[in-house]
Amino acid sequence: MQKNMSKIYKYTLRALIILIIMSTAYCSSKEAADLIIKDATIYTVDSNFSTATAFAVKSGKFVAVGEDEEILKHYKSDNIIDAAGFAIYPGFLDGHCHFKGMGENTVRYADLTGCKSFDEVIERLKIHFEKHPSDWLLGRGWDQNLWKDKTFPTNERLDEVFAGKKVVLTRIDGHAGLVSKEVMSLANFDSETKIDRGEIIKDKDGKCTGLLVDKPYDIVRELVPKLEREELIRALKIAEAKCLACGLTGVTDAGLELEDIKLIDSLQQSGFLKLNFNIMINPDERTMDYFMKNGIIKREGFSVRSIKIYADGALGSRGAKLIQPYSDSPSSTGIMVFDSTFYDKICEEAYNHGFQVCCHAIGDQGVRSILNIYAKYLGGKNDLRWRIEHSQVVNSEDFHLFKGYSIIPSIQSTHATSDMGWAVQRLGEERLKGAYAQKQLLATNGWIINGTDFPIEGISPLATFYAAVARKDTGGRPEGGFLPEEAFSREEALKSITIGPAKGYFAENEIGSIEVGKFADFVVLTDDIIKNKENDILKTGIQSVWIKGKQIY
Ligand SMILES: [Zn+2]
Repeated sequence: MQKNMSKIYKYTLRALIILIIMSTAYCSSKEAADLIIKDATIYTVDSNFSTATAFAVKSGKFVAVGEDEEILKHYKSDNIIDAAGFAIYPGFLDGHCHFKGMGENTVRYADLTGCKSFDEVIERLKIHFEKHPSDWLLGRGWDQNLWKDKTFPTNERLDEVFAGKKVVLTRIDGHAGLVSKEVMSLANFDSETKIDRGEIIKDKDGKCTGLLVDKPYDIVRELVPKLEREELIRALKIAEAKCLACGLTGVTDAGLELEDIKLIDSLQQSGFLKLNFNIMINPDERTMDYFMKNGIIKREGFSVRSIKIYADGALGSRGAKLIQPYSDSPSSTGIMVFDSTFYDKICEEAYNHGFQVCCHAIGDQGVRSILNIYAKYLGGKNDLRWRIEHSQVVNSEDFHLFKGYSIIPSIQSTHATSDMGWAVQRLGEERLKGAYAQKQLLATNGWIINGTDFPIEGISPLATFYAAVARKDTGGRPEGGFLPEEAFSREEALKSITIGPAKGYFAENEIGSIEVGKFADFVVLTDDIIKNKENDILKTGIQSVWIKGKQIY
């Protein structure tokens, strides 16, 4: 009996040990992950545009993407989230915006966007001035195209209401501004002043109206005192919070000076800022010298590798350079901002030092000139990804140059729906066929960069997505969409706000899709924007935003 008992005991023990060995072997075959998300509808935006239901994240990167069963078979985690069918997308990216500018605006500029009259501009300024009294009264975003009287405003009322103040009111496009008399004299502008590549607007009696277009406006902007460092840091954090709230996990800032670049770099390295950043450099002497000497910056999540320049102005203020005169101003064709020696110098420097060139070009002549200058340096097909920012009006004979020289269009789908009310007046029906032509531009290289140019447009990548697929404004107008043949499919639109902007600065192996080895940057939406009704796209909410596997919104 004793013997039997010990035998049973021995067998049980042996079976138990085998069981333990087997189970540890089984467990250790499961790799530990920091996070597993399952039961989701995941749009990976990989090259096949495939979907998945689960992924595992380790050390901030995707380590597996697939179906629930296979992910759970190979991975274990203390942090398994059941997404209950929610739709997940790669973190959205803005391929052209003014991140610092937007932050700065929120802390010191009166928001004048959407003002329906100049009276409303004055009212908003009064409120802002009461809250933020200062010698300088700054505002941004007015657009006379939204007013009953669509002529440009003058500074007469400003000087009545804000006598003695330095007032600078930037137009919605950022290329023109209305300034008070005080600022005019500070800049030494009077009716005799002649400035190339821009205009000091005068009334019929030859008196300055305070409206400055392009170059003279830039001169005035330089006079506005810069934000203190602490204030700027606060502004950057506010800008980041706004981006995250819209589902953005990365931005390309279209042009900053050395100090600002260094500041954002250090704030991101310290973890104070969490977004992915690509920053284009301003071609001012100091910034250029520094980067041409030190070369590009490329670390995970942060890049400086392109030079931002301007070909022309904007369409709204008739600064965009057209081949033929403006349809509603037969005496003008717009303005090229620099002469060709400048563009040659920048392109040569960029080419020799491995930088991309990103040139703002809006009018068909602006675009044509830059395409031809680029072509001279690029020589043919290449993978240098030189870009044309906006590419807004393109002559039908020039689309092939984008393809032939692998020049990448960087567009803003919302510009089309913001401008559609008056673009035809500036351009006429015929030229409109090559304007806001996102589909024709996409066809040239097979991929495209989309963005908002915020604060010129709103920040929301979902608004970009909606404008890209519906070609309607946020009020759902016009019925059939503006130039509807240029509408993107949902897939094309999603790519244009994820992998497109990533490729736009050689970051496609890091971000832009949900694939193994990339940063676990993703956004969970309350609805599926690939499948929902068009009217529901703008109602879609941001459920959460994750960067490097951490939920930050
Ligand atoms: Zn811009």
